[in-house]
Amino acid sequence: MKKHNFYAGPSILSEYTLKNTAAAIENFAGTGLSILEISHRSKEFVAVIDEARALFKELLDIPDGYQVLFLGGGASLQFCMVPYNLLNKKASYLDTGTWANKAIKEAKLFGEVDVVGSSKADNYNYIPKGYTVAPDSDYFHITTNNTIYGTEIHNDPDVDVPMVADMSSDIFSRPVDVSKYSIIYGGAQKNLAPAGVTFVIVKEDALGKVDRAIPTMLNYKTHIDKDTMFNTPPVLPIYSALQTLKWYKELGGVEAINKINLHKAQKLYDAIDNSKMFHGTVTNPEDRSIMNITFVMNDEYKELEKDFIDFASTKGIVGIKGHRSVGGFRASTYNALPESSVDVLIAAMKEFENK
Ligand SMILES: *Cc1c(COP(=O)(O)O)cnc(C)c1O
Repeated sequence: MKKHNFYAGPSILSEYTLKNTAAAIENFAGTGLSILEISHRSKEFVAVIDEARALFKELLDIPDGYQVLFLGGGASLQFCMVPYNLLNKKASYLDTGTWANKAIKEAKLFGEVDVVGSSKADNYNYIPKGYTVAPDSDYFHITTNNTIYGTEIHNDPDVDVPMVADMSSDIFSRPVDVSKYSIIYGGAQKNLAPAGVTFVIVKEDALGKVDRAIPTMLNYKTHIDKDTMFNTPPVLPIYSALQTLKWYKELGGVEAINKINLHKAQKLYDAIDNSKMFHGTVTNPEDRSIMNITFVMNDEYKELEKDFIDFASTKGIVGIKGHRSVGGFRASTYNALPESSVDVLIAAMKEFENK
């Protein structure tokens, strides 16, 4: 049976990515060797990393003066690397969920942290607005898409200081004005590649402004100076990322992808809003994520939630169980998820409701 993969991460990858990654495990770039068993400094692999960095710049329209790095450690290591490299005295953070909170906790190890807004009291079901970012902040950190809670900041905010963003779960889902950011980072396993590589887009002249000593591996400059090959990079996930980037280019780039995403998400939100059995956990349409759509059953049907997951699995639908801190359901509609999978989920919801 065809599977409809709604997992939140690691998550669905394009068929193009999977097919080409599998082929390179057999025979990479005509070398007669697997990509798993050759030097990362071979000319064939250097070409992969160069092309992946170039496609990042092209697809996101990254201005001059920025570098694209492929590191280990996940987005979680960036929670520490960002303040290590950028926080001199004070930084501002927006508290929009679990991941934002983890970033705040690390930043506090390095200096003063001003949490300018938080939706914690409402279980993070909206994006705080009307906050003020102190102009003497070294940077303002946001989590653009809150994977667990299904909220998203759809535009690049206007503040008076450079921003830093965790874009783990919405990178390449919409156009971004990179010039507003000192750093954009994320784990690849939501919208790009298998787990194991972290992308970091870093503005070079934002670096070198802190007084502390920075350990070699945690210093962005180390990786910039060595063209993101200071040590052995995660070779296979980078190869897969390149395949996904090529596929994104073929689809017409991030503007075209954004249109498809908006359409897919709107369809599912409409089905939820028009249902007598389900309702969304994020009520302000402006704050609703187009990548992770969270919903629950109305109180009178609450005990049927597990039954729906079982019913959906008979239709090939996997990965819709909500995160334990929200409950209910979460349908992740990442770039690689076809619209037909959304249609199957909507049909399953209707059929279950009618039973
Ligand atoms: C998944 C996720 C993370 C954690 O990423 P790791 O690569 O596992 O460290 C951080 N932030 C957001 C927004 C995420 O969705």
